[in-house]
Amino acid sequence: MPPLTLDEAQARVLARVRPLQTETVSVVEAAGRVTAAVVRAAVDLPPFASSAMDGFAVRAGDLPGTLPIVARIPAGRPAARPLAAREAMAISTGGVVPDGADAVVPVEDAVVQTDNSIEVAHAVARGAHVRPRGGDVAAGEVVVEAGVRVGAPQLGALAAAGVAALPCVRRPRVAVLTTGSELARVGEPLAPGQVYESNGLMLAVALAAVGAEVEALPAVADDESAHREALARGLAADVLVTSGGVSVGAHDLVRRIEAELGVEEVFWQVAVKPGKPVSFGVHGATLVFGLPGNPVSSLVGCELLVKPALRALQGLREPLPRFEAGRLASPLRRGEGRDELVRARSHPGPEGTVLEPLSGQESHMIVRAAAADALVLVPRGMGELAAGALVSWLRLGPEL
Ligand code: AMP
Ligand code: MG
Repeated sequence: MPPLTLDEAQARVLARVRPLQTETVSVVEAAGRVTAAVVRAAVDLPPFASSAMDGFAVRAGDLPGTLPIVARIPAGRPAARPLAAREAMAISTGGVVPDGADAVVPVEDAVVQTDNSIEVAHAVARGAHVRPRGGDVAAGEVVVEAGVRVGAPQLGALAAAGVAALPCVRRPRVAVLTTGSELARVGEPLAPGQVYESNGLMLAVALAAVGAEVEALPAVADDESAHREALARGLAADVLVTSGGVSVGAHDLVRRIEAELGVEEVFWQVAVKPGKPVSFGVHGATLVFGLPGNPVSSLVGCELLVKPALRALQGLREPLPRFEAGRLASPLRRGEGRDELVRARSHPGPEGTVLEPLSGQESHMIVRAAAADALVLVPRGMGELAAGALVSWLRLGPEL
């Protein structure tokens, strides 16, 4: 079977996603969670007609003119009685506009007289500087739609609308397993032939940023029984992500042992660079991704295939990576058979984002990749994309 195109691979992953169950989450703990249903306001917002300014509550029809100040209304303490004709009440921003009043005159538009009255020289429109009750949202109306990630603005809206708890999709549990006999733990000295294990931490942070609850399994050597044990453990998660061991080498055991454990392989190999030998399969409800060990391949595979699956598991409505438009600062050669994701730095330009491809595009060069904030999509084909060419690009990090 020839490698799938990226689009096909993404479609096959999403076709296997079944959204996770719903649970009720306190608003205090809802940051980063995805709503499982529309969330409606518990109260009108504002809950009462309130003043938008520090000033004087009045009847618009009484002005221009001079009115006695008969009461003071701080925020949180409504007036004891309604406003009568030809009266003013001093009111703070957020104070309850008293019954009988229909406008607020800002402090700066009134002159306070020595006899505790105000003189207002101009007419005032009815409703001026009054925030009507329910003007933002009425009780029972939608505050946040279903399938939306709750960020700071949504949290503010939910709390303001009196929503103490809301239905969210359960967080996906993701097991991350790195494989390779050459892997050393950072902090320990490198023995001959070893490299530091770096994909585990990188993937854990990248996946936590899209809502996963990550379990980092201890790295395994290229040994069948070690693979069997660790993979079996990882299959208990909602998603198992492995790194390494999915190429064609004699020590690449991941796919073979997964098949033994009953994983149904959906595809292996995608026509992208870097990251071609990526695998995807299912085991019951568990989604199983095999990312290549080269760190940049792992990173790109995570962005293009694993993160979309995690978003879809949580019910987000647009799970695929969000590519933007930009222009190349320098030419890029196209690959004949594979779409390529080129590491670049993005700069704001007068006509939109300009993308400057970085040197050091090989798939083991994670330090070079870490200097990038963009992946430029170079579609497969002949020839090159000229400087100034319009391209699609994906923002990379920061995760925190
Ligand atoms: P593999 O996909 O297992 O053939 O590994 C490809 C390359 O990536 C090899 O040079 C490995 O040493 C390297 N590699 C594999 N896993 C990791 C890892 N977890 N962290 C850093 N490098 C890795
Ligand atoms: Mg390996």
